[in-house]
Amino acid sequence: MNRILIAEDEQRLSAFLEKGLRAAGFTTTVVADGAAAVAVARDEDFDLLILDLGLPALDGMTVLRTLRGQGRRLPVLILSARDEVDDKVAGLELGADDYLTKPFRFEELLARVRARLRTEGTREETVLRHGELTLDLRRRTASIEGRTVDLSAREFTMLEVFLRHAGQVLSREQLLSHVWGYQHDPGSNVVDVYVGYLRRKLGGHVIATVRGIGYVLGDGEG
Ligand code: CA
Repeated sequence: MNRILIAEDEQRLSAFLEKGLRAAGFTTTVVADGAAAVAVARDEDFDLLILDLGLPALDGMTVLRTLRGQGRRLPVLILSARDEVDDKVAGLELGADDYLTKPFRFEELLARVRARLRTEGTREETVLRHGELTLDLRRRTASIEGRTVDLSAREFTMLEVFLRHAGQVLSREQLLSHVWGYQHDPGSNVVDVYVGYLRRKLGGHVIATVRGIGYVLGDGEG
């Protein structure tokens, strides 16, 4: 099992990351400042470090410089705020492996995490199937009953979430969090709108409504 160290001082974000990564089968440890990140990364084995740049005690850049200075090859995924673009570039020069700008969708982070760990030898599923529905994650294409369907990036992500949770009823809140990220408006009807788009493109039977709860992937057969 892959172990991920999360260095993030924003409690809401670290809780969101931890919950999502655990649900995806990873083991996580959270630290809330840079000094703790250096200490924990030194004392325990991890497969990946998710590193916020704006950290108290030691900022993310210093953490990265310290780890690399100690000869640590631990893969690092940087999280940066929009106004830290220069730091992002510097971080990559310092030996970070990837970066994400906040706010981001959880599925986007998960894809980066998986891509990073895949190069470390993890086998990854690239085609998801359910009934007549096929989603090719590498080519970013969707098809139903052999017919290719054009989906927007957001529609694709939502369909991927449904396929990864086939047979499970997903609430609007779960879909919002998976597809739109942690900075979403809980009162928004955007989930219903996008379910509508998917039904129009794939057929109404593909996603079923569970009254009062949310949505579930249908049998995928027309
Ligand atoms: Ca921060």
